[in-house]
Amino acid sequence: MGTDLHQIRNFVDGAFVDGPTTFEKVSPVDGSVAADVHLADSFIVDRAVQAARRALNSGWGATTVPERVALLRRVTDGIEARFEDFVEAEVRDTGKPATLARQLDVGRAVVNFRQFADTVSSEGLDSFLTELPDGRKALNYAVAKPLGVLAIVVPWNLPLLLLTWKVAPALACGNAVIVKPSEETPSTATLLAKVMADAGAPAGVYNVVHGFGASSAGEFLTTHPDIDGVTFTGESSTGSTIMRAVAPRVRPVSFELGGKNAAVVFADADLDATIEGLGRSVFTNTGQVCLCTERIYVQRPVFDSIAEGLAGFAKNLVLGDPHQESTTTGPLISQAHRAKVSSYLDLAVEAGAEVLVGGGIPDLGANLNGGAWIEPTLWAGLDNTARVVREEVFGPVAAIVPFDSEEEAVRLANDTDYGLASAVWTTNLQRGHRVAQQMRVGMSWVNTWYLRDLRSPFGGVGLSGIGREGGRHSLAFYTEPTNVCVQL
Ligand code: NAD
Repeated sequence: MGTDLHQIRNFVDGAFVDGPTTFEKVSPVDGSVAADVHLADSFIVDRAVQAARRALNSGWGATTVPERVALLRRVTDGIEARFEDFVEAEVRDTGKPATLARQLDVGRAVVNFRQFADTVSSEGLDSFLTELPDGRKALNYAVAKPLGVLAIVVPWNLPLLLLTWKVAPALACGNAVIVKPSEETPSTATLLAKVMADAGAPAGVYNVVHGFGASSAGEFLTTHPDIDGVTFTGESSTGSTIMRAVAPRVRPVSFELGGKNAAVVFADADLDATIEGLGRSVFTNTGQVCLCTERIYVQRPVFDSIAEGLAGFAKNLVLGDPHQESTTTGPLISQAHRAKVSSYLDLAVEAGAEVLVGGGIPDLGANLNGGAWIEPTLWAGLDNTARVVREEVFGPVAAIVPFDSEEEAVRLANDTDYGLASAVWTTNLQRGHRVAQQMRVGMSWVNTWYLRDLRSPFGGVGLSGIGREGGRHSLAFYTEPTNVCVQL
């Protein structure tokens, strides 16, 4: 059975395919084996790329927008019909609370397909009536074609959300895709293959290859000579490797990479709302969202109130069984990731941090202690020179640092190689706009965090990425316009 989620297979040319070997997917909740995953070797990856090319050339690439929109809407219905299966698959892979998987991950997957069906339906063509000084006249118009056969490589933190954020616009624009989900979260991409097939996606339009990055499916895919572009979400260093992989053939990339996001809290902020918003921004998904806040700059008069309030928020988080309604916080994704986050807990103490809350590994009892659990943690007493304040930890951690002036706050927030997102907390309207606009980031929030309109541009500057996706910005990446100029 292709969608038995204890045996996870590749999906190539419309069929589920075994790999020559399998690897074990381990549950981060308790360390048990969750599934055997069929590894795609270079031969399977090559078959997937060839299948995508055939699908593109044998009709899919020339479908009309209404035909593709109809498919996207059937896929939306298919995800909704199997909503709880997707939730269960996401929970099994990540250990995140089912309530979160419902609301954030699977809910957004539905919206991603719906939104891009709407966006592509309302997209017009550029056309210009040209008149040159010598009297010649011409009509210019651009025809949008699919970019082609695309590699979609995604991480483990919001597996289905981030995958569908790319698959939906790619298919809306008539591309054929090969997706490489993270080795940590193979399930939902595989379940989506079944939904795609049931919705009538032609064979080869949506392919899934499983495996790791270097010397594995990720590298085989991104170095394949017959892909037309790569859209990638993950670590900045992986983005750099993929850029080198496609450089010899000069293929376009869209990169959504890491972050070291700042929040700036002014003394005039609504403190209760700020603490609630900051709490969500630091601890949602156990801090494993690229947009999560890991640096909090607080104006000195309210420093103690914010630090105490946020520590109280952290203490109220409930770690435990993801299926319990009361659970707010899951484990980290893996033991390897916990070892990395733990090393930053040690580094913070070595750098002289005052640990306001957390700082270690919790004891959750015999049933859960084999999992990758970590305590939500807040530090004071550090400044921008500490490694934990400069490097992305990607866990439920943040450093709280005081400032005095608005100018200083902007300088501290922008003192980073990353540039994904920021949040400003203030009741002063002009200051909110002024500071938000000075942030060197792709997304700048005022008095909120992670409030998204999917038509708006999403992406980062510096180490946080290249390009923007969202609404027409996605369509710009996923299409290749041909301009036609007709002399009149
Ligand atoms: P990662 O870069 O380790 O892996 C991401 C994907 O790339 C996985 O599928 C992996 O197998 C693959 N990969 C790894 N090495 C590769 C290689 N050499 N060639 C081809 N593919 C390769 O990232 P991760 O640990 O899975 O995810 C966490 C990171 O993702 C964090 O840095 C986080 O900030 C970032 N992220 C960014 C955004 C955003 O929108 N900017 C969103 C979510 C996560």
